[in-house]
Formats: sequence, structure tokens, C-alpha cells
Amino acid sequence: MPRPAVSVVIPVYNEEEVLEELFTRLTSVMDATGRPYEILFTNDGSRDRSGALLHAFYQRRPSHVRVIDFNGNFGQHMAVMAALERARGDVVVTLDADLQNPPEEIPKLLAAIQQGHDVVGSYRRHRQDSWFRRAASAVLNRVRERITRIRMKDQGCMLRAYRRHIVEQITASQETSTFIPALAVSYAASATEVEVEHAPRKAGLSKYRLYDLIRLNFDLMTGFSVVPLQLFTLFGMAVSVFSALFVVFLFIRRLVIGPEAEGLFTLFAILYFLVGVGILGLGIIGEYVGRIYQEVRRRPRFVIRCVYEQPDAP
Ligand code: UDP
Ligand code: MG
Repeated sequence: MPRPAVSVVIPVYNEEEVLEELFTRLTSVMDATGRPYEILFTNDGSRDRSGALLHAFYQRRPSHVRVIDFNGNFGQHMAVMAALERARGDVVVTLDADLQNPPEEIPKLLAAIQQGHDVVGSYRRHRQDSWFRRAASAVLNRVRERITRIRMKDQGCMLRAYRRHIVEQITASQETSTFIPALAVSYAASATEVEVEHAPRKAGLSKYRLYDLIRLNFDLMTGFSVVPLQLFTLFGMAVSVFSALFVVFLFIRRLVIGPEAEGLFTLFAILYFLVGVGILGLGIIGEYVGRIYQEVRRRPRFVIRCVYEQPDAP
């Protein structure tokens, strides 16, 4: 089967207001590269007109557009994963649908691939998101740098390009909860990053509520590191050593000065603190166990209702 030079992969969840402009801008950028390309949209269970619009794009340019229609909402990373599995390009570019990643930046990524890199990430100049999102990302990027081996400036930016062999490694990683840019970086022989523009969302709202963001970051941290577990082991060891010394101290004090009954509330404060840390530790173990449970059930990661594509699209 002949391969296009570039596949552009876009997850779509309730993005009816932006799709038309996205399609126009994206196709004109890709036409201008002069290389054969395909655009893969995954409709991640949209409940608005997104599905119909994507189908119309396919009918407009069947040799350039392929649409994967999910049965329900399986999340951005699964939507990207399904498209990666079907992408035929030598290079695959991922992109958000909401035009926060300007399609005009794609040639910059392709140029970096041309220079011999197999993973090209990006970081956003003047990120156009709420101060809360930016502050949270700054903290989470720091934590991730410290506890995983994944090195990237801006984990939240999905405008990225991968060579074919990297895409094959990503799709061979059959895990249910994952973080695609981190997988790519962990398989890369030569990763690089380029600076890209970032625009405010064209229309609609972010599809990530606070809870989704927390879950996504747990996927990243637990999927690529066991440091959170080890920290608890270390903390437990420190508390044990400290308590043992304290017992010895109280024993000697009792022999020398006599029994003590003061400091009741200090004791409670310490106890509550330790109970809190204990519950946190249980929660973190739960995060890992939950993910193990998800993996061992071996349910399909996503369900595809249908695919619109020409059997021999270029
Ligand atoms: N998205 C998706 N499924 C989801 C949530 C989001 O396919 O369950 C898509 C969404 O349509 C968009 C991209 O993932 O193309 C990024 O989502 P969004 O812009 O809402 O995230 P943010 O920019 O706020 O991080
Ligand atoms: Mg966005």
C-alpha cells in the first residue's frame, strides 16, 4: 500500500464551531508542502454536529481525509492512539482540534524531522490559557522532570511529530491509561523540541475539567515512574527510625524524671499528620492498583463504530 509522507492526527470531541476553520487552514498548509498527506480525525463520541462535519470533510476530499468514529468518549489519548494505529505516513503529526495549536506551525516540525530527529516536541510561546492552568502546568512539569525519566519542556502541548518507527512502538504499547508524548520521548533516539505559537481556544470550552486534569496527570506520573511509591517507603523508614529513638528517649526520661502526661495536643497533631500521610499513601497505592486492575481485565481500550476511508487512499 503506498504511503503518504505525512499523516496528521486530530482528536475531536464536541468541536463543531472550530472544525470548518481548522480544515481550511490545515489543508492549505498541507497542500503547500507539496507532499502527499492524509488527515485522520477521530470523533471521540461527540454529541454535537462534529461527526457530521467530519463526514462531510471526508466526502469533500476522500483521498486526503479519513475519519474514525468512536462508539463513545474514550478520551483524547485513546482517540490519538486509534488514529496512530491506522496512520500510514512516514511521519505522523498530532494536533488539537481547537486551533490552539496553529496548523501553520506544522512545517516547522517537519523541518526538524528532516534534520534527522525521530521525535519533535514543542513548547508554547505565550501560552493562552487561564493562569490556573499555567500555574498547575508549571508545578506538574517540575514534578514530572524530577520523578520520571521523561525530559520535555511542556508536557501539555500536543503539537508533535513522530517518525514511523516511533509510532509503531507507541501503538505496540497496549496500555489503557497512557500519555502519548511521554511514550514517544521514552522511545526516541533523537528527540528535540521547537517553539510554537499558541492561540486562545477559537470557540467552545476546554474539554478537561479539573478532575480530568488530575486523572491525566496521575496517568503520566504513575505510568512513567514508581517514585511516588518509593517516597512512601522512605518516609515510613524515617518515621520508624524517629519513633524508635523517641521510645528510647521516653524510657530513659521515665527512669530519670518519672512518667510524663503533658503534650497531649502535640501528640494529636503529630498523629493526625501521620494519619493524613498514611491515607495519602493508601491513595497512591490505589492509583497504581486501579491501573493494574484496568490492565488485567484486558478490555478493549476503545470501540470503533465505523471508519470512513478509501480502501486505497494515498
Ligand atoms: N479531546 C478528545 N476527547 C476528550 C477530550 C478532548 O478527543 O475526551 C480533544 C479535543 O477535542 C481537542 C483536544 O483533545 O481536540 C484537546 O482538548 P482541549 O482543547 O479541550 O484541552 P486543553 O487545550 O484545554 O488542554
Ligand atoms: Mg485546547
